[in-house]
Amino acid sequence: MSTNAFKVEHRYLELPDSFYTRVKPTPLSQPAMVCFNHKLAEQMGFHVKDEAEWAGVGAGVELLEGMDPVAMKYTGHQFGVYNPELGDGRGLLLWETVAPDGTRWDWHLKGAGTTPYSRFGDGRAVLRSTIREYLCSEAMHGLGIPTTRALFMISAKDPVRRESIETAAALMRVAQSHIRFGHFEFAAHHEGPEALKTLLEHVITLHFPHLISLPEEQRHQRWFEEVVERTARLIADWQAVGFCHGVMNSDNMSIIGDTFDYGPYAFLDDFDAGFICNHTDEGGRYAYNRQPQTGFVNCQYLANALLPIMDEDHVRRGLRRYETTYNEHFKNNMRAKLGLEETDDSDMSLIMETFSMLHEHRVDYTRFFRGISNLHRHGNAPVRDLFADRSAADEWLERYEARLKTETRAHDEREYLMRQINPKYILRNYLAQQVIMEAQNGDYAPLKELLKVLENPFDDQPEFEHYAALPPDWGKHLNISCSS
Ligand code: AMP
Ligand code: MG
Repeated sequence: MSTNAFKVEHRYLELPDSFYTRVKPTPLSQPAMVCFNHKLAEQMGFHVKDEAEWAGVGAGVELLEGMDPVAMKYTGHQFGVYNPELGDGRGLLLWETVAPDGTRWDWHLKGAGTTPYSRFGDGRAVLRSTIREYLCSEAMHGLGIPTTRALFMISAKDPVRRESIETAAALMRVAQSHIRFGHFEFAAHHEGPEALKTLLEHVITLHFPHLISLPEEQRHQRWFEEVVERTARLIADWQAVGFCHGVMNSDNMSIIGDTFDYGPYAFLDDFDAGFICNHTDEGGRYAYNRQPQTGFVNCQYLANALLPIMDEDHVRRGLRRYETTYNEHFKNNMRAKLGLEETDDSDMSLIMETFSMLHEHRVDYTRFFRGISNLHRHGNAPVRDLFADRSAADEWLERYEARLKTETRAHDEREYLMRQINPKYILRNYLAQQVIMEAQNGDYAPLKELLKVLENPFDDQPEFEHYAALPPDWGKHLNISCSS
């Protein structure tokens, strides 16, 4: 195995001991490689000829020289309730590497067995949920939305009990950082100001190097503002693409603003503003239209954790960045989705009316925006056909066409750019479900094909047209189990 093109570091171990526990993975038996992300490996600084060589690492049977696995300790607010008992319950940070281009990568093996933070869990991940995480992190990356990545995944023979007996699997998840808001909550509420400051400086040094030279007060203030801004921008991106995370607990919020921890997530099919993708979230706390507010609440938890070492006014000022950043980024996203270049005072009302109309008529979100990206190429039939009530479509199209008259760009150019932001292909739940069923029968080819399609979601890819179809009736509103 040649891994010599990257440098090994394990800077997380520089944090105080209380931030982690050394744990060896519990081996899985007879591992098979399901999927390996060769492009990502190249980017990380290595090349793999024989994928199978990595199966042992994925199964926790083999550790490479320099790997020093730890379970990270963090806490967090789950559904609004503080839980001091959290931490990596089934994932281990193996090491950190630095690619030739200077990018840092945490290697986190998810499904590696129990740790001191497993509570009642078995430390395992199942094939179904591991495929879901692999697919969605790569789909998000294809869409240009910040996310953790999937390097490879293995399946194993060990049975894992969920609602039924399922197949064990493990994911090598990589990201620039696995530090969560919950790490700060842990430091603040259990370790004291010194540990908190150490954590803060650690994060700045590794992930916000442009702030290092600022004087301390300013450095901390700017850093918090940036975290808030990244979070707001991330959620504005989710809303624009119709992504519902499902478990926006503060332990699932990345400090660098990545989409983090894929569980019962969903991309909207028929637009429903109040859509709840997590069937255990009965109150709809994390419904699609509550995500922007929830992002803010999570920033408030982080803000609270920073009070022991930061000036309260500075923290407040940082929090205020959320709403302005969110609104600006959301508006820019939606204006680009609608192909608007000129500014017009009524644009925000057009955006809000568009959402109400999509909600009222339960229009397929992705096909609608892709359809209006092709109005002058393919005509309005593909858009009208999404409506049971064609007159509602006509009414909206009339208003939209009138607005387009104030634009100066050529139709072709506008629509070309719209197709760079309105994806043709998204990871619909039923598509994930189909490839999971095939994989459970031992066929990984459909999974690999779907991954290939989602790599370029904005391209027409005529040979894969069927992946852009409306979901079949069975595939709408699938009940995605939270047990992963
Ligand atoms: P999640 O809802 O996946 O973000 O997980 C919340 C917490 O439960 C984290 O601390 C996880 O490490 C832990 N956890 C989730 N599933 C398991 C499992 N099968 N075994 C042990 N811990 C788990
Ligand atoms: Mg989690």
